[in-house]
Amino acid sequence: METDTIAAISTPIGEGAIAIVRLSGKEAISITSEVFKGKDLQNVDSHTINYGKIIDRQTDEVADEVMVSVMRAPKTFTREDVVEINCHGGMVAVNRVLEILLSRGARLAEPGEFTKRAFLNGRIDLSQAEAVMDLIRAKTDKAMNVALKQMDGRLSALIRSLRQRLLETVAHVEVNIDYPEYDDVEEMSHDMMRESTKVVHAEIEELLTVAKQGKILREGLSTAIIGRPNVGKSSLMNTLVQENKAIVTEIPGTTRDIIEEYVNVRGVPLRLVDTAGIRETEDIVERIGVERSRQVLKDSDLILFVLNYNEELTEEDLKLFEAVRGLEYIVIINKMDLEQKLDLAKVDKISDGKPIVTTSMLKEEGVDTLEKAIADTFFSGDIDTGDLTYVSNVRHIQLLKKAKQALEDAMEGIELGMPLDIIQIDVTRTWEFLGEIIGDTASDSLIDQLFSQFCLGK
Ligand code: GDP
Ligand code: ZN
Repeated sequence: METDTIAAISTPIGEGAIAIVRLSGKEAISITSEVFKGKDLQNVDSHTINYGKIIDRQTDEVADEVMVSVMRAPKTFTREDVVEINCHGGMVAVNRVLEILLSRGARLAEPGEFTKRAFLNGRIDLSQAEAVMDLIRAKTDKAMNVALKQMDGRLSALIRSLRQRLLETVAHVEVNIDYPEYDDVEEMSHDMMRESTKVVHAEIEELLTVAKQGKILREGLSTAIIGRPNVGKSSLMNTLVQENKAIVTEIPGTTRDIIEEYVNVRGVPLRLVDTAGIRETEDIVERIGVERSRQVLKDSDLILFVLNYNEELTEEDLKLFEAVRGLEYIVIINKMDLEQKLDLAKVDKISDGKPIVTTSMLKEEGVDTLEKAIADTFFSGDIDTGDLTYVSNVRHIQLLKKAKQALEDAMEGIELGMPLDIIQIDVTRTWEFLGEIIGDTASDSLIDQLFSQFCLGK
């Protein structure tokens, strides 16, 4: 058990931000009170905020004016005594306050160590701990809601109920095997087994479906803009960037350089692939041919394919249509303020039922419709994250896939009429994979690895 007192700066490092130095551990309050000028923190009530100054005891200088929150165990994030020092004097002062605390016996926290303690002290389960990490990295408000939901334990609760169902199934089989003489324990039939596995399988599939949306919310939709020269790709890019200012969330730990690579279109973060913004690709087919263009474009989650309203379809346009076939794309017919020369019926026919939006980047018309189309492509309408339990974590998704596979092995065994004690092995594997999501069967090394990914100060 870790008992020393840890400290770290737990807010974004940037101008103007109020920074917080957080301590957790048995001596959090006594260490702080040694360097605090104001009320005697050792005797203040729990969960109070106290104004005062942090003093460098070696020089007697004031390091910063601060507000200190004192929170006594166990009703704290880590279930240990926690002190949060709100500093106002900018980064230099914050660092100084941290140094002073370290000189008094606090230890600099490892990345994720606060959250790790919360986990080890039973305050949160593993999936909630990971949600904290996602929260730190959340790029839009919606992504943040997802992370908050998960922290709430909704995913955990669902996983627990699925495991419970599987466990009961397994237990039933065990009883039949161990006590065949008990007639009153109903023989676990293949039908019952089929029913249970079906229900759990459907739930896992649903989680995996929303996982894709969760991934987009978390990582952004990698987006390419393609079209012949001069159709308006740069104009489109600029419009999107101007109308959807880079996402700035107030989440501690989010770093600006990452945030600025995203634009937020109705809650959907578009990932700006290169420094210029959204990757703009012209002459791609000319340069590298249809097949290789397809390979390149396949890496995008979404392609914005721009045509010119004022020109007839060209051979090059047709090649681009070939390159995007089967991929996720939206056709944008730009320059609608000019005379129509494009054969719209033909575009409609070759665009595979994909959304077609007419715009004028010059007059800023049709941009709303386009943004709606972008959002609709992934979330049939403006989604309400409040109603969904998202899985937005790569490790969870992998475990869900493994659980699903194991369950399908079991289901195949059921259909083949294999003995229930054999089928039970796969059901147990499913149960174990699901358990790993909430940390019930996670090994220590897995836990260490996960927590080391956390930002410092969380
Ligand atoms: P790109 O080569 O595909 O990136 O196209 P640009 O965005 O650089 O635009 C090419 C030219 O078309 C520029 O002079 C733009 O001002 C102009 N343009 C872009 N969109 C429109 C539009 O909707 N209507 C008109 N009339 N001109 C536009
Ligand atoms: Zn351009």
